[in-house]
Amino acid sequence: MNKKNIVVIEGDGIGPDIVAESIKVLRKIEEISDVKFEFSYYEAGGVAIDKYGHPLPEKTLEACKKADAVILGAVGGPKWDNLAGDQRPEKALLGLRGGLGLYANLRPAILHRQLKDACPLKDEIIGDSLDIMIVRELTSGIYFGERGRNKADKSAYDTMYYNEEEIERILKVGFEISLSRNKKVCVVDKANILESSRLWREVTQRVAKNYPEVECNFLYVDNAAMQLIRNPKQFDVIITENMFGDILSDEASMLTGSIGMLPSASLGGKNALYEPIHGSAPDIAGQNKANPIATILSIAMMLRHSFGMENEAQKVEKAVDAALTAGYRTGDIFSKGMKLVGTKEMGDIIANYIK
Ligand code: NAD
Repeated sequence: MNKKNIVVIEGDGIGPDIVAESIKVLRKIEEISDVKFEFSYYEAGGVAIDKYGHPLPEKTLEACKKADAVILGAVGGPKWDNLAGDQRPEKALLGLRGGLGLYANLRPAILHRQLKDACPLKDEIIGDSLDIMIVRELTSGIYFGERGRNKADKSAYDTMYYNEEEIERILKVGFEISLSRNKKVCVVDKANILESSRLWREVTQRVAKNYPEVECNFLYVDNAAMQLIRNPKQFDVIITENMFGDILSDEASMLTGSIGMLPSASLGGKNALYEPIHGSAPDIAGQNKANPIATILSIAMMLRHSFGMENEAQKVEKAVDAALTAGYRTGDIFSKGMKLVGTKEMGDIIANYIK
């Protein structure tokens, strides 16, 4: 029996609701494979602040370091909004990414053909479907650079820092992924203004020489934000720095109908972390309303990237597709004529489609 140790961090808000459904799916995978999943639950985010006074307790990080993979729901909520920056729940995310060395964040933005009505763009722009892979740098840039306040002149500053090694390794991840897709990479930056972006361009030109079969172009981030709406089909793989990737992937999520549909994988270290891209959605927490699909698709990414279980990953993705084709919808992706279901029902339905 092949055993995988998975650390489960439910987090806050809808975190426990959606993570429970991803566990259902993994239990189903156990039935159709020779793999056994061992789950250990740890705290991070607001719940950890309440219990231990820290958003990322040392024992959570230590357990993650030893695990084969980590599943994370979401962290944060209004209860902790007034805490100082380094004590907020979101600090746990940065601590996990930094602590596990997860520098590469893969965010596929896929519009399922069944959800075309939920996409705000016109039919002639999106065609039948959309499939963009956003590769976001995750452990450097302005989110990790030096920051501070100056009382004397009542100012504050954040620093966007990158070194060549950090840029090169994320570019390699993006170029490699493009080889199994349409061999088209767009590097998004702000090289007309930022020195760090000009370094990104220099390193890209060097890295691109090793991938002559990949078409590579650059876009300024403001133009990229516009092009994602004007003509999203021009993109295949987008590679970009931390903050630009954060913003563009949320924008891309709207093209797919709901933020509740988008999974992510954070890779680069000894093990990897899988989480939906959305937050803790406090407005619908504990009400059986959250869409668990982003988390379930994150599980598919875990099977693929951490465990080499491509066949099972595809079974999970096909099960999601089958549930959508059969007309099941949570509130966020509901449209007239479809069958409205809750979080738990959607989890059951998807798990049942896995054969
Ligand atoms: P959010 O993503 O939590 O919610 C935005 C909107 O989308 C809300 O209306 C919410 O109900 C809806 N939504 C989100 N996920 C959904 C799902 N699975 N199904 C159905 N609807 C869904 O963003 P926010 O409101 O800006 O942030 C709420 C909290 O989450 C904040 O504390 C924020 O800091 C935190 N946050 C955490 C993460 C993370 O843990 N990775 C990411 C983003 C925000």
